[in-house]
Order: sequence, then structure tokens, then C-alpha cells
Amino acid sequence: MKYLTEYRDADVVEKYINELHKITTQHWNIMEVCGGQTHSLVKNGLLSMMPDKINMIHGPGCPVCVTPLNLIDKAIYLAEEKNVILCSFGDMLRVPGSKKSLLEAKANGADVRILYSPLEAVKIAKDNPNREVVFFAVGFETTAPANALSVLHAAREGLKNYSILTSHVLVPPAMEAILSDDTNIVQGFLGAGHVCTIMGLEEYYPIVENYKTPIVVTGFEPVDLLQGIVMLIKQLEKGEYKLENQYSRVVNENGNEAARNIMEQVFETSSREWRGIGTIPYSGFDVKKELEQFDANKKFTINIPKAEESKECIAGEVLRGKKKPNQCPMFGTKCTPTFPLGAPMVSSEGACAAYYHFSQAGELQEA
Ligand code: SF4
Repeated sequence: MKYLTEYRDADVVEKYINELHKITTQHWNIMEVCGGQTHSLVKNGLLSMMPDKINMIHGPGCPVCVTPLNLIDKAIYLAEEKNVILCSFGDMLRVPGSKKSLLEAKANGADVRILYSPLEAVKIAKDNPNREVVFFAVGFETTAPANALSVLHAAREGLKNYSILTSHVLVPPAMEAILSDDTNIVQGFLGAGHVCTIMGLEEYYPIVENYKTPIVVTGFEPVDLLQGIVMLIKQLEKGEYKLENQYSRVVNENGNEAARNIMEQVFETSSREWRGIGTIPYSGFDVKKELEQFDANKKFTINIPKAEESKECIAGEVLRGKKKPNQCPMFGTKCTPTFPLGAPMVSSEGACAAYYHFSQAGELQEA
């Protein structure tokens, strides 16, 4: 297959759906880690076509959703109180902080800018030598290389007014945290193809072995996902646990070594708080000590109280796969994309947004 349409071919989709109905003999709980996979499953109506025995659990793979409330408050504080030019990707702007969102801060006059690349933020810093510029660096292993590159560019340019506020999270430690939880029901994972494009497959072998849980790395198109689910169900039905790579047209064993090299120059692994989930050891990236002049957390004194999460939003349970978005009492009533109570309703990778935009009433399976 070479062309995108082939990965959306209705006949091929039907073939895999039929195969799933044939090979699935018992109930299986599978987690798709990535929010992009969740959106594709929901948007393309795949959940309702699959056997009822397959329960797809939506994982915590939406970087905007897991960015802690406190960091959003810090970004707002920097924009409002420290007069910095605060740059971010668009999704972050509408996520509610404890009192307001970055978008509301912008509406109130703060200099908050939406960018498509952190390198644009470096250019803004170069063009505004009298202003501090902070890039809110959110994301998984996929966005980390570009954010790291922005730091290297700023260092090469000798810029003193550029820094990043990091909220980088890593997928494998989150999978281990899910599997280690006493209440875990996940029996197999669809691994996120774009993360493995950067990181390769190495980190996943120990997870498969230690937790005796199969992982199939997949892409994001309907045929990718269904082929990956077929591969996973075949393993589960046979009692096997292996790492398999459905996305081999993009993901290779070693990943992208150049990208990893850039990350390694700038970041070091650290414990990281995930919104709604808690702190997971070694699950994030911080800027290395020798580059701390580019770390907004170190550069600015940010004294703000740690705020409480909204009691109404059950995003933590959604992100841990304990509840489906449409089981939240606020879903589609008090919480909509226009008036979101939590990040999963805002982000383009959020599970609540996927259900809101693409699901038909009654079509989606219950947890
Ligand atoms: S529907 Fe809204 S309130 Fe409910 S979990 Fe999702 S984001 Fe939170």
C-alpha cells in the first residue's frame, strides 16, 4: 500500500472487521495509548463495527489533557505578571487553568501568541530583544525534538531572552504505571506509531516481558488500527505476548537517531506530574542543568499556590480508562467544546472531544 486512500479503503476495513468477528471468542480490554488513535477510532465509526467483546479503553496519550493545572496557571502568571510573550500551540490556549485559560488571559491583554513551531518563538525572541519570550513546550516524545532544537537554536544565536516551560511526558512509563495499578484491566496495548517513529521499539520489549502483555505498534488510519487490533487479538486468543510492529512503513527498530540525539543534548529524564493521574517516576523531560538559562521554571520566580482540580470534571478517570467520556455527568451538558470544564473536551486529541464531535447517541460501547 502506498497511498492514503488505501488505508481508508472500505473493503479492507470490512475484511478486518469480519476477521475480528471470527477470531474473537472472549472479552478483551485493549488500550489505545494515543489520543490520535482514539479520534480515528471514534471518527471513523470503528468502535461500533467491532465485536462487543472488544472493549477499547482510551489511554492518557493526549499531551494537552495531562498538562498539570499548576503549569497552565504558571504560563498565565508569566504572561500576566512577568510581561513575557507567551507562545504555545493553539490547543493549550483554551484549556482551563484554575481561574482562567490562556485565551482569557490573551483577551484581557496578555501577550499570548499561537504558533505552529517552537522555532517561530526563537525568531520572536530575536526580533524582541527587550522582551522575555517563553514557549510552553507540551507534548510526548514526538514534539520533544523540535522543542529541544529551539533551545539549541537560541543557544547558538546567543539569545538571553528565550526559555521553555516544559510539560514533556513519556509514553512507556505511563504504560508501566497503568499495568502496575492493582485495579488495571488492560490486557493489551496499541502502541503509538508516531512516538515509536522517534524512539524506536527498544523501550517496549521489557514492558511486554515484565508484564506479559502484548503490544502492537500501529498507525492512525482505519486500516492501520484494525490490522493492529487483529494482530493483538490473535496474540491474546493464543495466550501470547509479543511486541509487533504494524506501522513498519514508518517505524523502524531504532527510531530516528538524529531526533533522539537532539533531545539528549537538551533534556534529561525526570519524574513528572500528569494531570488527573498523579506523579509517574521518570515519565518526563526537564531541561538539563547546563542549559537552565533556557528553563522558564528556573529563570523566573513563580510563586503561585497549587490549585485544586474541578470536582465536576472526571478527566482523571477518563485518562486512566476507568470511565468513557459519555459516562461523565457533565458530558455534552455543562461541558462542551465551547464551554469546556476539562482539557479532554478542548484538545484535538482529547477523548471527550472525540466523543462529542464524532459519536452518535447510543452508538458507543459502555465501559
Ligand atoms: S466531559 Fe468534560 S467534565 Fe467530563 S471528563 Fe470530559 S472534560 Fe471533564
